[in-house]
Amino acid sequence: MRAGRHYDAIVVGSGISGGWAARELTGHGLGTLVLEAGGPIDPATDFVEHVPPWEKKYRGMGDQKAMDRDHPIQKHCYACDEWSGKFFVNDHENPYTTPDGQPFHWIRGRQVGGRSIMWGRQVYRWSDLDFEANLKDGHGVDWPIRYADIAPWYSYVEKFIGVSGERLGLPQLPDGEFLAPMQFNCVEQMVRDRLAQHYGGERVLTIGRCAILSEDHNGRAACHYCGPCERGCITNSYFNSIGVTLPAARATGRMTLRPWSVVHSVIHDEKRGRAAGVRVIDARTMEPLEFTARLVFLCASALESTRILLNSKSPGFPAGLANSSGQLGRNLMDHTMGGGASGMVPGFEDHWSHGRRPNGIYLPRFRNVTSQHPDFLRGYAYQGGAGRSTWGRGSSMPGFGKDFKHALRTPGPWRFSLYGFGECLPRETNYVELDPVTTDKWGIPALRIHCAWSDNERALLKDASISAAEMLEAAGVRDVRPYVEDNPPGLTIHEMGTARMGRDPKTSVLNGWNQVHDVKNLFVTDGACMASSANQNPSITYMALTARAVSHAVELMKRKEL
Ligand SMILES: Cc1cc2nc3c(=O)[nH]c(=O)nc-3n(C[C@H](O)[C@H](O)[C@H](O)COP(=O)(O)OP(=O)(O)OC[C@H]3O[C@@H](n4cnc5c(N)ncnc54)[C@H](O)[C@@H]3O)c2cc1C
Ligand code: SF4
Repeated sequence: MRAGRHYDAIVVGSGISGGWAARELTGHGLGTLVLEAGGPIDPATDFVEHVPPWEKKYRGMGDQKAMDRDHPIQKHCYACDEWSGKFFVNDHENPYTTPDGQPFHWIRGRQVGGRSIMWGRQVYRWSDLDFEANLKDGHGVDWPIRYADIAPWYSYVEKFIGVSGERLGLPQLPDGEFLAPMQFNCVEQMVRDRLAQHYGGERVLTIGRCAILSEDHNGRAACHYCGPCERGCITNSYFNSIGVTLPAARATGRMTLRPWSVVHSVIHDEKRGRAAGVRVIDARTMEPLEFTARLVFLCASALESTRILLNSKSPGFPAGLANSSGQLGRNLMDHTMGGGASGMVPGFEDHWSHGRRPNGIYLPRFRNVTSQHPDFLRGYAYQGGAGRSTWGRGSSMPGFGKDFKHALRTPGPWRFSLYGFGECLPRETNYVELDPVTTDKWGIPALRIHCAWSDNERALLKDASISAAEMLEAAGVRDVRPYVEDNPPGLTIHEMGTARMGRDPKTSVLNGWNQVHDVKNLFVTDGACMASSANQNPSITYMALTARAVSHAVELMKRKEL
């Protein structure tokens, strides 16, 4: 075992949360080692958002044999295609198991930047409706924080990364520090107006709030609407850690970024009751290494951070470090998705849209906001939008030659769709553990994931479908088709909750500052910390909680309490 240098802080993972931890720790003057399991990314060669399908070997259809071989799980994600497949993990090198008949689609990226490269960039604040939900209906444990605790940190994050959106003044979806909103197209504008007439402000259609620059911001260029952001962005117009937080950390001169460093476990100093550092396996040479630090931040993503802790066994923690409560690995959640409706919108056949707006519409939660629905707890929100239904460059529209070109320039019918995303309740019976047999390429025990939807999630989706159809009918949409998809947990890619926050060390893993109850200098600031799931896309909450946790850790260090 080769011992590496000692640092003020170690951050595990360089994705959305790790990038923020690195920026904040270095910004506070701490020499910080960022350990990333995957390899580096060079935007100049790896980002391919401007590569047209005809320059791809398989014309954008992908090499199906290679996809089946290397990405049998990842291929279920819409973004894992001939361009972006390289940003998704190889499923054979990174295995996990599930019980028969209970699939979980764990979608991951292993590279500097993590999933911040391929993410959908939708960012919504939580409200007290969300932070108080567990206390009110008794599912999970009460959050140890409220909206007022995190609101300034949302602002702090939004101001730095740049979020475009429209202010609505809704209590269930607080406004943020927004850049100018992106524009509706003509059909979305019509649907918005008709919903406003019909529902009088109870149901509001707005443009998506997204971490994409609608104007130049902090030295980064405004988006030029090329469209396929999951392939990268050479102008850094959307937030990812390699273009925004990691460069800021690097500029301090205090960050050491070590790619190809697979963290195996946390070293626990039993005498002092502290994390001493981490054990690492070099991903390319398989050499075991150790690095020590005063502070350790786990930001490897919800399930990977949990796996590291479960694998950090010691005489004092035989069931995994930070697990005196027995809650580590439990209460796994993902959003349920796919209850919705779509239909045709007459009257706009001669209208065009310009550019490829990388954003859709959002219809915030309206269920269980002021009154209780008889069939389910919590709520759902919709994403979606309007588009020319038959128009598609590349593979989606058949044709060839002059007639094809003409068809592409001809206006046509429009379709509008609402696609629901619902809250998942925290349940101890949804959990992960170390698989007794399967290991990954580096010999580290893989996870066994047990996760299933409950009647509440199914009821939410059903209602999302019925309500979507009603709203589209009310807006004058024709040929409305409601649907309820049967997606397995994991596929919404919002997995969270396996090292939850809570006030009581007997029933939770982290305190209200993302600090491990059992080990004071160890912090977990990715989605593992979540005590409930709300229905909003979660990543901006991870960013805000990470920045807040670093500020607290630094304060404790100044007071010599860490
Ligand atoms: C296609 C897609 C669309 C999405 N859309 C949205 C959206 O619109 N809005 C939203 O809020 N969220 C969205 N998400 C989810 C979002 O990407 C995640 O919530 C977010 O990236 C989680 O941040 P993280 O830092 O915890 O993990 P990641 O960003 O996944 O980063 C974790 C990093 O840790 C590294 N790592 C893992 N294990 C180890 C180890 N043992 N040692 C060292 N390093 C390790 C990984 O390689 C990775 O780089 C989307 C995700 C995808 C894939
Ligand atoms: S659409 Fe905008 S944010 Fe997305 S890749 Fe293109 S320029 Fe970047």
